[in-house]
Amino acid sequence: MRIVVLPGDGIGPEIAAATSHVLRAASEQFQLGLMLDEHAVGHASLAQFGTTVRPDLLEIVRAADGLILGPTATFDFKDEARGEINPSRYFRKNLDLFANIRPARTYAGRPHRVGEFDLVVVRENTEGFYADRNMEEGNAELKVTPDVVVSLRRITRQCCERIARVACELAMVRRKHLTIVHKANVLRMGDGLFLDICREIALGYSGLVVEEVLVDAMMAHVVREPRRFDVLVTTNMFGDILSDLTAELSGSLGLGGSLNRGANYAMAQAAHGSAPDIAGQDVANPVSLILSAALLLSWHGERIGAPRFISAADAIEKAVAKAIAEGQASRDVGGSLGTAAAGAAIAARLT
Ligand code: NAD
Repeated sequence: MRIVVLPGDGIGPEIAAATSHVLRAASEQFQLGLMLDEHAVGHASLAQFGTTVRPDLLEIVRAADGLILGPTATFDFKDEARGEINPSRYFRKNLDLFANIRPARTYAGRPHRVGEFDLVVVRENTEGFYADRNMEEGNAELKVTPDVVVSLRRITRQCCERIARVACELAMVRRKHLTIVHKANVLRMGDGLFLDICREIALGYSGLVVEEVLVDAMMAHVVREPRRFDVLVTTNMFGDILSDLTAELSGSLGLGGSLNRGANYAMAQAAHGSAPDIAGQDVANPVSLILSAALLLSWHGERIGAPRFISAADAIEKAVAKAIAEGQASRDVGGSLGTAAAGAAIAARLT
């Protein structure tokens, strides 16, 4: 399995190095034959090549079996004409990575702020309010006058259907419980379409329990009683916000793993950003990117029918839980290890 690794900005290079360490250990133990092919992206690429994403990277990624993208300083990248491309948007759009899978769970050995839970947010990834990716050309934010801006949100049957199917299939191999999170009371047409299609698709899965929750109320429900949820499906921006909340409720944003997948490609990417406030200090939690990489291994194993990749992914998840339970983790989850040592502690617990 050849994986392209793009470390990114801020804490990206630190958590990417820890992730590569864990992947090399898993590769050896489970005979995965992993090849990690590292390239610059973000500020490092801008300084070296005049663009945050070199154009040839897309073909390099297409020819590989998976991509790991570290967090990048997307807020800094405002002008594509000056090479400031948002790498996350670039790969999600060009590889049509329509499903963003963001699991969140609590861990033994960590105080639970809201009780134990284990859920997955399934977020539509290619349209919605994300103005930089919901148009074929141009941008869906328009400045009408210096004081008036219009932001357009796109919702399509095709994108609703495919994200609903991914969520239903995931729920069927978990606890068979799907929650559709929406705002159809206000966004009557857009979220109305999303809700209708999710209901329609869910009817095809026998035994699946389906509930519907308005997104604003969801913020209260998930804080009050997260254990009641299993798989949550929602549109792009709601999913982005909700999954940061569920990651933080699980113990830290630094535990938020995430996989962006489409029909043919997948990209592992932490749920959080480049965390400039803690960059370069060897304190960031690498678990987010390590769990994302495990999701990528599992996706690859299922795709090519090779169970050893799925076993390796399970082993990484168990090693993460063990390291956290033993306090061998970074400070945001109660440990005192640096980023590199926290990665090494996980690699050492792979069985
Ligand atoms: P952030 O997610 O980077 O950080 C929010 C808070 O969480 C900070 O206090 C940070 O220290 C903490 N945190 C994040 N990851 C952590 C980890 N692994 N371990 C411990 N603590 C962690 O959000 P921000 O500061 O608003 O954004 C910083 C930059 O990241 C911006 O340029 C933003 O646009 C960008 N961003 C990128 C992505 C991406 O690449 N996918 C996603 C979100 C934000």
